[in-house]
Amino acid sequence: MKTITPCRARPLALTLAVVAACAAHWPAAAQHLHGPELHNLLEQEKQTQNVYRAYYPSAEIARKAAISFHGQLLESDFKRGFLVMELDAADMDRLRPFGFRFELATDYIELRNRRLTLMQILQAKRGTAEAQPLSIPGYACYETVEETFAAADALLAARPTLGSWVDAGDSWLKTQGTGGYDLRVLKLSNSAVPAPAGGKPKLFINSAIHAREYTTAPLVLEFARWLVNGHGNNADATWIMDHHEVHLMLHANPDGRKRAETGLSWRKNVNNAHCANTNTRGVDLNRNFTFGWNSTGGEGSSGSACSLTYRGPSAGSEPEIQAIQNYVRSLWPDRRGPAVTDAAPADTSGIHMDIHSYSQLVLWPWGNTATPAPNGPALQTLGRKFAFFNGYTPTQSIGLYPTDGTSDGISYGELGVAAYTIELGTSFFQSCASYESTIKPGNLPALIYAAKVVRTPYITPAGPDVTALALAGDASGVGVAAGTPVALSGSASDARFNNSNGVEGTQAIAAAEYTINTPPWEAGAVPRALSAADGSFNSETETLAGSVDTAGLAPGRHTVYVRARDASGAWGAVTAVFLNISDTPPLPLVLAEVEPNDNFSQPQVVPSLPAQVNANMGSARGEVRDRDFFAVTVAPGRTLSATLTPGPESDFNLEIYDAALALLARSTQGVGRVDLATASNTSGAPVLMYVRVYFARGVTGPVNGDYRLDLAQ
Ligand SMILES: [Zn+2]
Repeated sequence: MKTITPCRARPLALTLAVVAACAAHWPAAAQHLHGPELHNLLEQEKQTQNVYRAYYPSAEIARKAAISFHGQLLESDFKRGFLVMELDAADMDRLRPFGFRFELATDYIELRNRRLTLMQILQAKRGTAEAQPLSIPGYACYETVEETFAAADALLAARPTLGSWVDAGDSWLKTQGTGGYDLRVLKLSNSAVPAPAGGKPKLFINSAIHAREYTTAPLVLEFARWLVNGHGNNADATWIMDHHEVHLMLHANPDGRKRAETGLSWRKNVNNAHCANTNTRGVDLNRNFTFGWNSTGGEGSSGSACSLTYRGPSAGSEPEIQAIQNYVRSLWPDRRGPAVTDAAPADTSGIHMDIHSYSQLVLWPWGNTATPAPNGPALQTLGRKFAFFNGYTPTQSIGLYPTDGTSDGISYGELGVAAYTIELGTSFFQSCASYESTIKPGNLPALIYAAKVVRTPYITPAGPDVTALALAGDASGVGVAAGTPVALSGSASDARFNNSNGVEGTQAIAAAEYTINTPPWEAGAVPRALSAADGSFNSETETLAGSVDTAGLAPGRHTVYVRARDASGAWGAVTAVFLNISDTPPLPLVLAEVEPNDNFSQPQVVPSLPAQVNANMGSARGEVRDRDFFAVTVAPGRTLSATLTPGPESDFNLEIYDAALALLARSTQGVGRVDLATASNTSGAPVLMYVRVYFARGVTGPVNGDYRLDLAQ
């Protein structure tokens, strides 16, 4: 096997080194097994006969078995009521008390062996040389390890300010100097937006820690594409990347994943010190985490080296786990006390997601005890929110038996950070059709939601979501002129939870607001209230209505942040939309004067501003003492300016009055001179003002004639 030369030596094995600059030097060639060794492993798997149909007594028991016996699971057939599982006698003894009965899964074994034979034939055709990177035969939608890294490299090359690679450590093979991989974390955030004191809130996701779980890394890579390609195009992707950090360890077990890419049902790492030279060698990485390692008297992990849930010789013995644990500890401070009952503070920031397949579950701590975690209610709220998007069953991570040494130990157990395990889909080797049609569209919104609420994941998910946010007019295209009010529409709902496993408490919407350019949690944000389209906030789902004040906005793109609050006081996640302000001033409405407009009770209404009124004083109707009244509506915080341009020989004057007919401003320039008067609306609501034009008393020369009145705010 080829030895990989690291592009930059790390001073210490566990020191995190940013290596974005040398991304091009990462090994490009696929690392896969030599023909004879692979042939032998495929042959071993074909000999594995202890595969059974485990008929379950109820869907509830099947779901719990999928949690506790995730390592033994191979396939599910919910129509016919069985799980296909690789079981030894002890496993069967543990399942029987729950009502399971077993049948040899001969059809599964036969199909599996046909598939493995096909892989042997394909491998033989390729020969023993290290060929170019292969996609996974029959599963073209799933990137190989190399394709995953190459795709992420391309994202960074296209948008270098949006991310970098961090080298978090080495895979087991690499620690042995026999190939292997750096455990790379794709860190995504817009470096052009500086981090505030305390740093940006951080979401950490690792995937493919179990090698055969095909869908996991591709989903997380898809999330990376959404974030990077969405920056500047999608308002939510943009603010997430500007204000938060997303850390993606796309392949947490790349050595094992390369074996699974050959068709082997590989779960563990490839540490050959345990169950050497077999296809069940290695350590179950998701039983090797330090917190609570081997804490359930052998129920939640195995001490047998060949077991699929072998916990390893000691807590955190595996280099992959050391890398993840050190990385997680570098992201977040410890906010949870030492006792198992110590809750992390409600404002604890950060989310860790460990993406697995399969079983359609959203899981949160604890997994090693049925006792709820001290932050259990808040973990459950966010879990039910994730499950709203993907339709999976949300539940505490305990099934028929406990599990121990799992990934939530480092983040939640040690640090108090919200931790979730998502079990995607319905099989390890999921078909591309169901990945594309169901898993990706169902789970991408859950990851996006996690990135939105990562600032306060124990608080924000209780609040309402804002959806279908839109601005009227041309706000998304060339834009509107500054000062033009833009209608906002959207929906706020406090009811977006999966209630398939208990019912989440919800309340009526109580308020909604928007801010422009400054998100609501930052100092200097100026919130403006939105209203309910039906007139009052009184139900769990409300249509939002409002007008965005664009006064004073510079030409270019702006961000409108919207959020809603429920009656419990919880503000929900922010949803944003872009607002484009054009660089051309608005065209005035051009009107002709309409007589009679001779007093305050009979003004000519000017329907919008700016406006230009072409008018005439007196003589057109033969009046001796004409005067013209106009009514305008001035927006909150805005100043009305009225400009009167008379003919060269005329002397007309100008006044502005408020709605109570109090004089606000007057201008009395002489013959042929322009009058300008201004008056401000300092209130928080639109107000009516009157503009009065009249000829000056006692002047000589013509007292009638054409004039132009320009009105703006
Ligand atoms: Zn797994």
